[in-house]
Amino acid sequence: MQYYSVFERQLLKDKIQQNSPYHLIVIGGGVTGAGIALDAASRGMKVCLVEKQDFASGTSSKSTKLIHGGLRYLKQFEFKLVAETGRERAVIHHLAPHLVHPEKMLLPIFKNGSMGKFTASLGIRVYDLLAGVEWKDQMTYLDENEVRAIEPLLASDKLLGGCLYAEYRTDDARLTIELVKTAIAQGADCINYVEVNDFITRNDRVVGVKSVDVLSGEHFHIEGKVVVNAAGPWVDGLREKDGSKKGKTLHLTKGVHLVTPHQRFPLKQSIYFDVPDGRMIFAIPRGQVTYFGTTDTDYHGTLDKVVASADDVDYLINAVNSTFPDLDLSRRDIQSSWAGLRPLIHEQGKSASEISRKDEIFVSASGLLSIAGGKLTGYRLMARKAVNRVEQFLRADEGLSFKACQTKNILLCGNNFHSEKDVLDYQENITDRIKEFGLEARYGQYLVQNYGYQTQKILELVAGQSGEPDPALRLLRCELQYCLQHEMVCTPLDFLTRRTGRMYFDMALVKQYYSFILKDFQNAFAWTETQYETQHKEVLQSIEDLSMF
Ligand code: FAD
Repeated sequence: MQYYSVFERQLLKDKIQQNSPYHLIVIGGGVTGAGIALDAASRGMKVCLVEKQDFASGTSSKSTKLIHGGLRYLKQFEFKLVAETGRERAVIHHLAPHLVHPEKMLLPIFKNGSMGKFTASLGIRVYDLLAGVEWKDQMTYLDENEVRAIEPLLASDKLLGGCLYAEYRTDDARLTIELVKTAIAQGADCINYVEVNDFITRNDRVVGVKSVDVLSGEHFHIEGKVVVNAAGPWVDGLREKDGSKKGKTLHLTKGVHLVTPHQRFPLKQSIYFDVPDGRMIFAIPRGQVTYFGTTDTDYHGTLDKVVASADDVDYLINAVNSTFPDLDLSRRDIQSSWAGLRPLIHEQGKSASEISRKDEIFVSASGLLSIAGGKLTGYRLMARKAVNRVEQFLRADEGLSFKACQTKNILLCGNNFHSEKDVLDYQENITDRIKEFGLEARYGQYLVQNYGYQTQKILELVAGQSGEPDPALRLLRCELQYCLQHEMVCTPLDFLTRRTGRMYFDMALVKQYYSFILKDFQNAFAWTETQYETQHKEVLQSIEDLSMF
């Protein structure tokens, strides 16, 4: 039996005890760990994934939300990285076309900017070639008037022209949760809110993990022939427990994004622009908002709570105002934000922005495999590499053999589509259908891009909830029912932040309706008043952390 429902959590924990020992235990339910669990389970391995908080609660919900090869890595001559991740974009689009959308990106060229027409065009031509972009999607150079036509906000006298090139945008947390669900469908046991606090060793080999259910306090052991540490920024903390934090270590850099109402930053076109200090910033319109980022600064603070500082906010606002002077954005215009840590591999003498984004696997004397670095876009390739190593161990030590990597052909949950056109047709159909519930048209796109074909199930719930007169609240509560039953959502913040993205992209709605969500949780889990108050405080604290500077 597969467990997707939070109400089956105890059964899932019992199953994990019964299934132990596993072939593989994965620590960390970010995109890296989720990708590894899916790859391993689909090769026939018995897999358990444990995540100490919610799935995607680390870096994998705090990225720029692009599936991209990383144009700027060309400057660092990272041709292999650009080629690999560039080509991977189309693969991930195929695996989840409702979640990964083609998006044209504009790189404007300014008088006295860091890039001229020749270098920018040449760079993007190389990028397209390395990434194997189809001819029809390759870069086009636009003159000044053409750039102004697609992005009137850039009406600056310094504008010379621009390059329009192909990228993809996504929702990182949704991608991660669909990967977890697909891994479960392939037979993996995946559980959130279970923290690994030590390793079990026998004859100096790691043979499992000591873990604790963070929600109940219950301690239990899970045994596994191989353990992979995919804990993102926490990788070195676990290596310390294993006594193997030697040689290369992590270098954490912080990246912040800010969100404004679209009316205040009415960008029509996703854009990648350089700012006076030579860094590059993305600004991306998304539904009712525009978001922009990122910063890239060394980080030495606590890993469990990373927030945007007033300096981060001012830096990004100044960067945007310097390119779009008529906007005159200020702190008051920021409705939300997120801040994440890049788990990069330290390189002596290099600054935050110069460090490579390459991934690396460390194998300790105890047999613990740790994987770090890399990008959201490269999750499948990283997983393939890690599971190949796991397979080598299992073959050498246990004489076991498994199938080769299957993930290029395993469509992610929610994908019943054959093409981008199928997604758009389905979106049109849903937009039409939700009119009968009084829902605004924008929810059609939101639902399909969040849940893909699973929208069907949510609308069945909406149809059965005619007692709730407010359409937006009715949808929100039905999404919650769906996420409790199918997406292991344990707290209001799991739901409002990582399953629906509303904490980032619809803060006004969160403020209006969060008390209803808290009440629904209280009813679903029979919370005491104290439990209710604890969760209430967490929601209020999060609103403050994300939006008050
Ligand atoms: P995480 O997502 O952090 O996952 C690690 C997980 O391990 C966490 O959920 C944590 O709770 C869990 N964990 C830790 N310790 C334990 C324990 N003891 N027990 C159990 N669980 C544990 N990449 C792109 O391709 N495109 C982009 O646009 C992009 N933009 C970015 C922008 C920023 C600002 C940043 C910071 C990164 C960006 N990246 C981007 C990179 C990408 O987001 C990361 O490479 C990726 O999300 C890392 O995923 P991960 O699973 O390795 O780490």
